[in-house]
Amino acid sequence: MAAVMGPTLRHLCPVDECDFYLDRPSPLGGPPQGSFLTLDEFVAAVAIQEAQDAEAVLQAHVDTHTPLEYLRTIQRLNAELTKVTEATLTEHALRLASGGMQVRNPHPDIERVYPLAEWIRDELQNGSKVYRRRVVVLENWTAVEEDTT
Ligand SMILES: [Zn+2]
Repeated sequence: MAAVMGPTLRHLCPVDECDFYLDRPSPLGGPPQGSFLTLDEFVAAVAIQEAQDAEAVLQAHVDTHTPLEYLRTIQRLNAELTKVTEATLTEHALRLASGGMQVRNPHPDIERVYPLAEWIRDELQNGSKVYRRRVVVLENWTAVEEDTT
């Protein structure tokens, strides 16, 4: 019986400057050994079998890297995580009748004239519902020179 092949699942090596990857059939690529009472059991057995096969190949590869290579990768990732964490900001907004959110202008001049705490207190006293979210800014506002959508 020929196995029905699904899409490929690509496993990438996490070490910096390593191009190793392992392409495996998706976990639904072939039938597992054994008998199963339900479809869920069958699907789970296929996924486990594929994960074990892929793990053996990946383990053989990752063993070729030195602890120093892992350390360098971890240090780079920590530095990137720090940058992302520093780029987070908290926005406050009101929900409009249309369903959209009107984000409070975070400009320092606005804050100086009408502090956030005062604005929140006033909006709550007026019966508005104030929302807050944390966002990560990957790039600051830049002017759009032409329509590139
Ligand atoms: Zn590698």
